[in-house]
Amino acid sequence: MMVATHLVAGLCAGAGVVAWLQVPLLPASWVLGGALVGALLPDIDHPKSWLGRRLPFIALPLAAIFGHRGITHSLLALVGVVWAMYQVLLHGALEQHWRMAALGVGAGYLSHLLGDFATHGGVPWLWPLKRRFSLPLTFRTGTWFEHLLFFVLGLGTVYLLTLRFAPWMLHDLQALAQLLRHYGQLVLADALRTPL
Ligand SMILES: [Zn+2]
Repeated sequence: MMVATHLVAGLCAGAGVVAWLQVPLLPASWVLGGALVGALLPDIDHPKSWLGRRLPFIALPLAAIFGHRGITHSLLALVGVVWAMYQVLLHGALEQHWRMAALGVGAGYLSHLLGDFATHGGVPWLWPLKRRFSLPLTFRTGTWFEHLLFFVLGLGTVYLLTLRFAPWMLHDLQALAQLLRHYGQLVLADALRTPL
């Protein structure tokens, strides 16, 4: 997946956590920030990825030892990330916003693996076994489908954040849609009555 799609998928996952746990506004920004980091983290195993280019001293050895879409794209890594997330969450001395960021990193990381799972290349869930798994329906990176996915995930993010912070706007939109439908029906009824 393109880096932009990974980022928006991470944001959508973070927004899901925010809406689900009813996180207040300021801590929510930490969740979303963490989700952006988490969404990029698995590709640290590729020296040419966005993160790999910035941290080559980590990316180069990782790529040489494990290869791209290796250990960082496995269930093992996911368990490791969740474990680290719990350590941060249970750490009493840490400030609350770091816990929020940890939640976001976990959500973003998961979103990245699910995203790659939906592409042709698939992910080696059972690493160190080399077999890669992908969804029955996959797409290629950079195709029109990925652009559509980007758009849908962006809309999903806006929807979830509106649901959390401004639910009345959704009610207003619903009322507006009803009004428009009513008006449309009136226009249609009028048009049908007018002889051509
Ligand atoms: Zn990846």
